[in-house]
Amino acid sequence: MKKKHNFSAGPCILPQEVFQESSQAILDFNNSGLSILEISHRSKDFVDVMEEARNLALELLGLEGKGYKALFLQGGASTQFLMTAYNLLQNKAAYLNTGTWSSKAIKEAKLFGEVLEVASSKDQNFNYIPKGYTVPKDVDYFHCTSNNTIFGTQMKSFPDVDVPLVCDMSSDIFSRQLDFSKFDLIYAGAQKNMGPAGTTLIIVKEDILGKVNREIPSMMDYTVHIGKSSMFNTPAVFPVYVSMLTLRWLKNLGGIDKIQEQNEKKAKLIYSEIDINPLFKGFAEKEDRSTMNATFSLVNGDLTETFNAMLAEAGINGLNGHRSVGGYRASMYNAMAKDSVSTLVEVMSDLERKA
Ligand SMILES: *Cc1c(COP(=O)(O)O)cnc(C)c1O
Repeated sequence: MKKKHNFSAGPCILPQEVFQESSQAILDFNNSGLSILEISHRSKDFVDVMEEARNLALELLGLEGKGYKALFLQGGASTQFLMTAYNLLQNKAAYLNTGTWSSKAIKEAKLFGEVLEVASSKDQNFNYIPKGYTVPKDVDYFHCTSNNTIFGTQMKSFPDVDVPLVCDMSSDIFSRQLDFSKFDLIYAGAQKNMGPAGTTLIIVKEDILGKVNREIPSMMDYTVHIGKSSMFNTPAVFPVYVSMLTLRWLKNLGGIDKIQEQNEKKAKLIYSEIDINPLFKGFAEKEDRSTMNATFSLVNGDLTETFNAMLAEAGINGLNGHRSVGGYRASMYNAMAKDSVSTLVEVMSDLERKA
């Protein structure tokens, strides 16, 4: 079967060479005569994998030796919605509401204390990033979502705040250069830009922990996981391994600077077509457009069937928009080749010629 152009929002595309290497490790890991799936997580071979994954994450983000710890835990970004609040929310926290995932984070945080929504773009179905809001000094932290996977908006800048800055970077971590030292806690489910579903990366500045009065169950306690180097319980061995391979791939490619260049080129290709082709319209406000997820739709719904057939014919997969937005969403994560985006753009301009 010919490889498809995979525009899925998540789980999603990963580098082909990572698939090759990880499938080999299922048969024989490191020439050990054992599969990665059957070895102990306490074995040296796997402890090395975990350590390399944690180190690569910090290295790629430029956070080595700056008081941060990297953890690979289970439960997805959705567990981080409550875990961040469990560990950090004593009285009141401030949240920026930019979509479905922010709203879910807010809902969980309310179980632990007061939540102040500093701004929301709900009034326009989250097609923009609110600006000009203020974050009060008397909150325990400020939480935002860097990239709104569903709506295709992305924060291009982050506010300077006097409180810990917490960010859900599930769908754009490692895709663009930022001053990551501005953040005190970053979390990201692996399955958008880093690896398979099943593990979640947490980068936390240690000095923000230990400030709440409540008892924290061990599995919910960042300090416990830091103390056990992400091995308090059995980690998601295979997802961590594949994530490590993907981070290695990114480092060998030239790191975040290099991938950012490529991501910007891909984004420019698709957005130029959306803007130039009268059959399509973009969903997100131009200045807030995501380089990872481009949301758009057909101006004339009658062309849907024709367009969908052309997409299928071109081997394009996973382009359907989320039900809360409709239309189409092209997710163009790190591993996506520019070629795949060109293929999509060609289909869009072919449609214009035909229509
Ligand atoms: C996918 C996604 C989530 C949810 O991740 P799970 O790992 O499925 O819990 C949260 N936030 C953002 C920004 C996402 O894209």
